[in-house]
Amino acid sequence: MNPFVGGNRVEVGGVSVSTDHFIGGKRVSSPTTFEDRSPLDWSVKLADVSRGDKATAELAITAAVDAFPAWASLGPVGRAEILRRLADLIDANIESLAAVECLDMAMLHESLRLRVLSRGARNFRAYADLAAQYEERVWESNGTVNRVLRMPAGPTVVITPWNAPFMLSTWKCAPALAAGNTVVLKPAEWSPLSCSLLADLAHAAGMPAGVFNVVQGIGAEVGAALVADPRARRISFTGSPATGRHIGREAATNLVPFTAELGGKGPFVVFADADLAAAAQKAAGQYDDSGQVCLAGTRLLVEASVRDEFLALFNQFADQHVLGDSHDPATTISPMIHPTHFARVAGFVDRARANGDTILRGGARSELGGDDGLWYEPTLIEPKSNDSEIVQNEVFGPVLTFQTFTDEADAVRLANSTAYGLSAIVYTSSQERAERMGRALRAGTIWTNCFLVRDLTAPFGGIGISGMGREGGDYALDFCSDLKTFQVKEGTTY
Ligand code: NAD
Repeated sequence: MNPFVGGNRVEVGGVSVSTDHFIGGKRVSSPTTFEDRSPLDWSVKLADVSRGDKATAELAITAAVDAFPAWASLGPVGRAEILRRLADLIDANIESLAAVECLDMAMLHESLRLRVLSRGARNFRAYADLAAQYEERVWESNGTVNRVLRMPAGPTVVITPWNAPFMLSTWKCAPALAAGNTVVLKPAEWSPLSCSLLADLAHAAGMPAGVFNVVQGIGAEVGAALVADPRARRISFTGSPATGRHIGREAATNLVPFTAELGGKGPFVVFADADLAAAAQKAAGQYDDSGQVCLAGTRLLVEASVRDEFLALFNQFADQHVLGDSHDPATTISPMIHPTHFARVAGFVDRARANGDTILRGGARSELGGDDGLWYEPTLIEPKSNDSEIVQNEVFGPVLTFQTFTDEADAVRLANSTAYGLSAIVYTSSQERAERMGRALRAGTIWTNCFLVRDLTAPFGGIGISGMGREGGDYALDFCSDLKTFQVKEGTTY
């Protein structure tokens, strides 16, 4: 069965992709479009995609409102059946999804095929299971029997960024759908295509019309209209702190619960007692995906006594990176998503240089792809001061900073010195130190002697400007639900 059918379509990487919205179980187009180009070769236009507006947002929310009662009353077990079918369809179509997302976002084809996209299927399975397994908390107090009921909350607006668009969208849509909410998803305008395929797969899995809707378009246009609609009963957002603040104001106006997974500027702390080779290898791996990873440890903080030894090891591993076409299995660093983003990243490095920060490696556009190529050399910068812009702001490119610390207290001071608090990475061989760092570091996730290992039931989110609320496991299901306390007088006979 080919699940990718209906609406206006283009061929991308040999896969038929709809350029329309998906609303109320049907493909719907807008009279105007926006251009979607491939970061692998900016001269290649992949698609003209429907550019949603306020009317599109209203249509999609109306579809989600209309479909909500039946989806909510289907119950977690009935919903789980459809969500598991969707997970199976994702697994069965990994190659098509990878072909499209590799061209659209330029993430490495091998990573997409082998790891990233199957996480989409895992997201749906995990939440189908968790929602179905929910056990009401029941207890007696004050002469009453108390129960906690988890009720579907209503139409949920999900807004996602351009990096890992398919995986991140499924991570946010899966708990909403499993909890009994209907969804309007707006993917980012720089990589909109794989989420269009997700709509086809949801349809093929038997998702009732209006339960899962996808609208395409520009954030400030259709995105803003979606989050301003008071009929949306939850808003789940991943993106930059600036957009998070904007959406937060709309959520406050309508008093709608809102979660925000925002940017990061994670510290990567290496103590002298650590396995330095392992730490250096993982540190050089922070350039993966061209550094377009919110969780990356982009501030290398290394104990001063091992500065030179660590740097030599780090450079050995960093030298092994291969910039190239994301389809080539030998490539480890893909191009950046968009010329605008490229210019932003290059601007950070140029200002660091002008500020007197020291460029230890990289610091320039790669020759690959000529003047229009979007590859940037893996860059390491030793800042003049901890207040330097390059230390304090998220770059979201293949740019790391390098600083040394004198002792554990100094490491904690530096690690906690930005406004962000999404992730932190610590390398040490001391269990006591690891425990102390785990408590002292201001970050939603702290990895010790590892990186990016995820348990989907663990809480996930940011501190400070890295976000509000927690995703993951029951935390996400609680967010997507209205929790009720249901009390009955003890001994009541009906
Ligand atoms: P962005 O904030 O520019 O855009 C994110 C989404 O918001 C897009 O779909 C965009 O169209 C939409 N949007 C923009 N303005 C809007 C508005 N006024 N109303 C409604 N929607 C609007 O972010 P980006 O550049 O796409 O993504 C990069 C950022 O995302 C980085 O800061 C990165 O760290 C962060 N990120 C965080 C996580 C996490 O889990 N914490 C994961 C991935 C990316």
